[in-house]
Amino acid sequence: MAEEIRPRFYGCYNCHNHIALHDDIVRKDFVAGNRRRAFLFSHVMNVKLGTSMDRRLITGVHLVADVHCSDCGTILGWRYEKAYDEAQKYKESKTVLEKYKIVKDNW
Ligand SMILES: [Zn+2]
Repeated sequence: MAEEIRPRFYGCYNCHNHIALHDDIVRKDFVAGNRRRAFLFSHVMNVKLGTSMDRRLITGVHLVADVHCSDCGTILGWRYEKAYDEAQKYKESKTVLEKYKIVKDNW
């Protein structure tokens, strides 16, 4: 009998709403502007986006939107809407979640 493989989720640290799948992590070595660890995800779920605005980050100016938990409204990270630097284009439409704001669920 095949063993059931359950997806490994990350949840909101505040309300445990499922936000992202472990398999959707693109990079684990991200550092947020405040020098905290963060992960880059190709896809997230159950979130609401704030207003997009240009923000100067360590790697240059990007058009970004805050990512809020759809349940409790906590800001969990941000989404790259547009990168102006060619080398940063791979980040477009991907989401950064700060490590301390997400918790492992189901693994
Ligand atoms: Zn939440």
